[in-house]
Amino acid sequence: MIRKLTRQQLICHINLPIFSIISEEADLLGRECYVVGGFVRDIFLDRPSKDIDCVTVGSGIELAERVAKRLGRGAHLSVFRNFGTAQVKYRGMEVEFVGARKESYSHDSRKPVVEDGTLEDDQNRRDLTINDMAICLNRDRFGELVDPYHGMDDLEAGLIRTPLDPDITFSDDPLRMLRAIRFACRFGFKIVPETFESIARNRERIKIISGERIIDELNKIQLCERPSVGWILLQRCGLLQIIFPELQALSGIETKEGRGHKDNFVHTVTVLDNVCRAEREAGREPNLWLHWAAVMHDLGKARAKAWDEKIGWTFHNHDYLGSRMILPIFRRMKLPLGAEQKYVEKLVLLHMRPINLADEGITDSAIRRVLFDAGDDIDDLMTLCEADITSKIAEKVRRFLDNFKIVRQKMVEIEEKDRIRNWQPPVDGIEIMQRYNLSPSREVGILKDSLKDAILDGLCANDRDEALAFLDAKWKEISNG
Ligand code: ATP
Ligand code: MG
Repeated sequence: MIRKLTRQQLICHINLPIFSIISEEADLLGRECYVVGGFVRDIFLDRPSKDIDCVTVGSGIELAERVAKRLGRGAHLSVFRNFGTAQVKYRGMEVEFVGARKESYSHDSRKPVVEDGTLEDDQNRRDLTINDMAICLNRDRFGELVDPYHGMDDLEAGLIRTPLDPDITFSDDPLRMLRAIRFACRFGFKIVPETFESIARNRERIKIISGERIIDELNKIQLCERPSVGWILLQRCGLLQIIFPELQALSGIETKEGRGHKDNFVHTVTVLDNVCRAEREAGREPNLWLHWAAVMHDLGKARAKAWDEKIGWTFHNHDYLGSRMILPIFRRMKLPLGAEQKYVEKLVLLHMRPINLADEGITDSAIRRVLFDAGDDIDDLMTLCEADITSKIAEKVRRFLDNFKIVRQKMVEIEEKDRIRNWQPPVDGIEIMQRYNLSPSREVGILKDSLKDAILDGLCANDRDEALAFLDAKWKEISNG
């Protein structure tokens, strides 16, 4: 519930010792001082926040130094001279101090010319009206709301709008286009047509923004309650084509002989929302990397798409093709290349396995193989697979979900019995090399894989003696052949 607050009510929200100290120190310096931006917005949204941005007309660093000194031992000051800002950490709160500034941009440079300015100048350089409200901290105006662009009205109406002409706001700092979409997604707000059309018009400007800043916004969209809203807005304004063409490529429906396939972009973002819902229902924290796996799980479909006279549209092998796309995309998009990338790649590669189990028969050996390949990520894989059922035909959905129930139950039984999740075969490559006097070679790989397969298929017991006997027989077979 969003509602206007009186000055008295606002004062209740800033009635903390730290604000009184800032107020007193600003008055002693004879400077205007305001709390601005997200903190003010979040008061009205009833979302308490610990990040506080203070703007003063004059040096932010000087004010921060005095505030830190007054707070004494519990306070920690960091000064960023290059940026003219300073931060005070105190009792779990982070207060950022900055001098009011005026920014002027020229078209061919990303960096603005920054000069000292008034509060008005400072409010003119902000991104959205809802992020552009200030509350005065000086004693004689303590709690007064300064809202020149009617951010409060937009907050009440659920509207995203730039304070100035959107073409200027977005062209000055194109990251603001992503911020507009992120806030629309986070709060379920509507971007006003004038602002949205401007995003579409200025979309190419996003190219001057670094990958790191872009991914930061995308990650925040990914962690919203319904990230699909953000992805759909990105798609509609044309930004998606620039920042994530592989996902854009899934968009649209092709029809042949009266048969169309589903729109795989719409399907993908539905799967993503389903994953988020499943996490909430299970009381789990959102897992950003599972969300990325959901966004990327069908990327291979654009390349795998084929028309078969008998069955219609097919996407054979899209899981494998998709998994091969993950590393280059992670690299380009500045996503982390370690365990996170491997996890997403693995889930993309395996995402058809549980569903195929239903067709191929839910045999013990098939279950053991998925458990072995997925390891500790088996639960996430199952969450993804269940989320992947987006059919509108109730009967079909029920059939799949019933199958998954059986799969999950079998997994529990087999895991209890065989402990496959973190299992390693009882004889490793080094021992194989010693036993048969081999140097690292193709043969070692064949022996290793055949042992693993035999155990997973239940042809050899998971026991050292049996494994050695199996290997001896296999070795005889290869060395003779
Ligand atoms: P969050 O809840 O994500 O922290 P926020 O609105 O506080 O949201 P911040 O990135 O912390 O976002 O920025 C604080 C304030 O600084 C914003 O509310 C906005 O007024 C301003 N701001 C941040 N980034 C920009 C930008 N790129 N262009 C203009 N103003 C910005
Ligand atoms: Mg913030």
